Amino acid sequence: MSRKLVTFDFDWSLSEQDTDRWVFEVLDPIKRRQMKSLKSSIQWTDLVALKMKELHDDGKSREEIENALKVMPFHPAMKRALENLKHRNPDVDLVILSNSNEVYIRTILQDKKILHLFDAIITNKAEWSSSGCLNVSRRVDPNGPQHGCSVGCSPNMCKGEELESYVAAKGGWDAYNQVFYVGDGGNDYCPLLHLRSQDTALARYPRPLINRIEKEGNLKCSVVKWVGAWEVEEILDKL
Ligand SMILES: [Mg+2]
Ligand SMILES: [Zn+2]
Repeated sequence: MSRKLVTFDFDWSLSEQDTDRWVFEVLDPIKRRQMKSLKSSIQWTDLVALKMKELHDDGKSREEIENALKVMPFHPAMKRALENLKHRNPDVDLVILSNSNEVYIRTILQDKKILHLFDAIITNKAEWSSSGCLNVSRRVDPNGPQHGCSVGCSPNMCKGEELESYVAAKGGWDAYNQVFYVGDGGNDYCPLLHLRSQDTALARYPRPLINRIEKEGNLKCSVVKWVGAWEVEEILDKL
């Protein structure tokens, strides 16, 4: 019962940008603008899937998409913190809980040579077709049973339910004496409701998560605000 779990949101938390938006900002800003306009009428994961198909139809290659991901900002302090933490304490479980997708996250972590440090990447599905189209789909199949979240998670995934099933598969909350959650977005609030008094939420400032925490409260865990990745490193260095 001395194990620790550190869970990371990916966009603007583990990384310094938003993958879904970044790819289009690099490769096709007109589609980026269209996504901003369509966001309120099409579920976000479905919208990304639609725009990726259009990008492929326009002739953008797999290599161009991978290159866009590789140049996305990623803080060296975050990479250093994860390498040092896992080296010092191989028993720590590192998990990603993200509304991005498998291909985006794996491509970036592989490029940074830190993919092997993670025990699980829980996110939307994605795979390359033989012709180089990235097929993205919701983690929760829209044609199957839906998640029952009432905290406001998008239909593609409830981060609270996903965290709960990950922990259950590891033997339940008692298997961890401390759980940390590093996040920034409004959808990172739901999983925080599952944390206990000995756990810590690392909420990025100024981002929507901290606003939800301040407005809705109701958390048992302690909350630490951070701005730069170097501050997360300071905290992880003490584990
Ligand atoms: Mg985020
Ligand atoms: Zn939820």
